[in-house]
Amino acid sequence: MRRKLIAANWKMHKTPDEARAFVRDFAPLVANQNRDDIALFPPFISIPATIEAVAGTRIGVGAQNMHWEKQGAFTGEISAAMLICIGCSHVIIGHSERRQYFLETDVAVNRKLRGALEDGLLAIVCVGELFEERESGLTEGVLRRQVGAALREISGQDVDKFCIAYEPVWAIGTGKTATPQIASDAHAFIRAEAAKEIGDEAASKLRILYGGSVKPENAHDLMSQEQIDGALVGGASLDPKSFAAIVKW
Ligand code: PEP
Repeated sequence: MRRKLIAANWKMHKTPDEARAFVRDFAPLVANQNRDDIALFPPFISIPATIEAVAGTRIGVGAQNMHWEKQGAFTGEISAAMLICIGCSHVIIGHSERRQYFLETDVAVNRKLRGALEDGLLAIVCVGELFEERESGLTEGVLRRQVGAALREISGQDVDKFCIAYEPVWAIGTGKTATPQIASDAHAFIRAEAAKEIGDEAASKLRILYGGSVKPENAHDLMSQEQIDGALVGGASLDPKSFAAIVKW
């Protein structure tokens, strides 16, 4: 049985004060929710405030990006080792906005995953097709390429240290959600592709989250699918009540 992870990607939202206020309102709402794992991903500067605010709860805190090297001449970058030393436990890698606006490649995603595993951050690796790719029947080819590249030379023994998030780009921030069937089919495909890299047994344990306009109204239908092992939530995670409702799906 794979334990679900419900994750909040705040993107470039919330100052340290706003992050503290969120946790103050959110933590009591989910205090009795032990069914799934919960993690918040603030912007870098709000990570320390969020970590302080969640102390004593079972909420994890992570970064939205990282560099694969431990240190060096990489202006503007932050390493996994640095994130760990301030108490981060998780990291998002290869979000479609990083791929689209910051030209992150499949090779960079694989390097980042290897860096995260080496230093001990739980990584959420994002994959997903563009609208035009789905319309042209290219979804499986895109997922095959992204999953294969991300998991290259990754050991099945590390399967509990990373997840994949299937985030169809056409569903991110658009209000268009993949139906539970579309998401389940994509997850089954991703699992089969992951098995080619990490083996069948490890792939059966791999958590595959869904992301793309998850809201309180659709969370239950999506999260009750056998293939869906959690959610990566953007817009609807900015409000404590709305994210708590998703956690309680
Ligand atoms: C995301 O950015 O990871 C995401 C899924 O965003 P939204 O929930 O707003 O579609």
